[in-house]
Amino acid sequence: MRSLFACLALALGALTMTACGEPGTASDRDAAETERPRYALAIHGGAGVIERGSLDAATEAAYRSALEEALAAGERILDQGGSAVDAVIAAIVVMEDSELFNAGRGAVLTHEGTVELDASLMRGEDLDAGAVAGVTRVRHPILAARAVMERSPHVLLAGVGADRFAAEMDLELMDNSWFRTDRRRQQLERALEEDRVRLDHDDGDNLGTVGAVALDADGNLAAGTSTGGMTNKRWGRVGDSPLIGAGTFASNASCAVSATGHGEYFIRRTVAREVCALMEHAGLDLASAARRVVHEQLLPMGGSGGVIAVDHRGNVALEMNTPGMYRASVRAGEEPLVAIYGR
Ligand code: ASP
Repeated sequence: MRSLFACLALALGALTMTACGEPGTASDRDAAETERPRYALAIHGGAGVIERGSLDAATEAAYRSALEEALAAGERILDQGGSAVDAVIAAIVVMEDSELFNAGRGAVLTHEGTVELDASLMRGEDLDAGAVAGVTRVRHPILAARAVMERSPHVLLAGVGADRFAAEMDLELMDNSWFRTDRRRQQLERALEEDRVRLDHDDGDNLGTVGAVALDADGNLAAGTSTGGMTNKRWGRVGDSPLIGAGTFASNASCAVSATGHGEYFIRRTVAREVCALMEHAGLDLASAARRVVHEQLLPMGGSGGVIAVDHRGNVALEMNTPGMYRASVRAGEEPLVAIYGR
């Protein structure tokens, strides 16, 4: 009986994907009434003005394959019974190493032409969390966030001190110039000419912040986010990504969320926590909670972007108020989904 139920759920899931083509809403893989999958994983590579037809075939293929690689790295861990935290880290490390995304090498440049990286990680089991802001030398900022969580008494370290901490933890360090790519230099030049602070994906380059959320076989949730922030940022600007509750949140009581978009709005709306709070206190399901925050709270105030989320029952939400969001998800026993554009 149980397996018949699971098969039905699987068939239904497949049907939804075929019928909808590239799904763009939170109900992509909502399965509130079905059996919890053994694991679930979702990732994003940023949301923004990514119009259908705006990417050439080679670029689109490169994004899809980078998303597939990151998803596979996380899924491998979950499939072997590994933790949600390990899966989130594995997926994010792959994207930090890809120049396609605004994280790690290939991150956007500050007003001064340097790279300042932010990252955060949260574990739903005990609400433990770690984050770094404005690090300039850490190859994988998500690993620094993990070290803050596991090996320091703090939650958030910033600037020079955070770089020093990473060095003391023996994390891999690079010269700041290693992170900078020509593409980002050109992007900064354009932003400087127009005197604008830009969201990475709003200038036609269509790249972005990365994040991952996971549910593991033990029923534990985790979320992580990593970014270079916004092009032409200055004065030590920090966005939502390293802020627990804004860019990242995870609680086994409800869900795990990673956000991407215009950080100033996401901070003021405490977006990631708000999605989980709507589930916990208002009884909303994951899809409704994500939709409400992204469309009814962020959009009216001008906050463009999106969230990925997974709840404790293994439902996945991929919600955005922008034309596109690089995203992918998979649940145990199902075919992975990789998508870029909205409907
Ligand atoms: N949320 C990030 C920030 O504001 C940017 C992004 O998601 O692309 O720093």
